[in-house]
Amino acid sequence: MLNLYSTKRDFQTHPCHTAVLPVGAIEQHGSHLPVGTDAIIAGEVASRLAERLDGYLLPCLSVSSSIEHREAKGTVYLRADTLALVVRDIAESLRYTGFRRLVVFSGHGGNWILKPTVRQLNRDFQERGAAMEVVLVPSNIALKRQHEVVRQVQHDLHAGEKETSIMMYLCPEHVDEFVPEQHHTTAPQDFMDYFDVTDITEDGYWGNPEDATAEKGRRLLELTIECTLEYLDAIGRERERIAARSRTEDEGESAANIY
Ligand SMILES: [Zn+2]
Repeated sequence: MLNLYSTKRDFQTHPCHTAVLPVGAIEQHGSHLPVGTDAIIAGEVASRLAERLDGYLLPCLSVSSSIEHREAKGTVYLRADTLALVVRDIAESLRYTGFRRLVVFSGHGGNWILKPTVRQLNRDFQERGAAMEVVLVPSNIALKRQHEVVRQVQHDLHAGEKETSIMMYLCPEHVDEFVPEQHHTTAPQDFMDYFDVTDITEDGYWGNPEDATAEKGRRLLELTIECTLEYLDAIGRERERIAARSRTEDEGESAANIY
């Protein structure tokens, strides 16, 4: 695995084609979690992934698309377009020096712009014949299996049971008492297109921090790594299947040319 402490020689001698970029966020997470929660979690997930993939662990892109939290002091954000351009430049610079895959782990659900960015980037690389693939892994990659660990899967969006659990596992010294709510918000997540999270919620969290435990956090992290590796394997298998099909078609065509 390569990281910020690796030297020029390390990069020359250690064959490494995969880079892992954690994208976090600096935004309010209620009164009980730090503003850097998404960056801390994304950094941990990316570090574990880079180790498993023997990849190049990039530093966390901590500031991202958090405009929906801007009313709270401490929140710092990029415009969505800026985030797209930054990720594009990072992918381009990695490709230029021979990396073939960039795994972007987004620890913040509000980074919607990353989806079309990655889709477009991959098509652009393909059209140029560049051997580079960008894979986007959202923070809820394990969504279908999170019920194995937590009580609330769907309406636990921000600083709730899931994130509080992970922070209790990673750095309990930075988890404070949560402020109990009189009424849980029932607003749909899409309301963040119109309102600030601190307007919709009472203390800035959206979910159930009262259900959090460090053990759930440990299991959620493991589940995230497991589901991400499965996702990467599935992409690889699909790529092999498509390559095999086009080989068969090519063989069929040359056989047809002979006769
Ligand atoms: Zn968060």
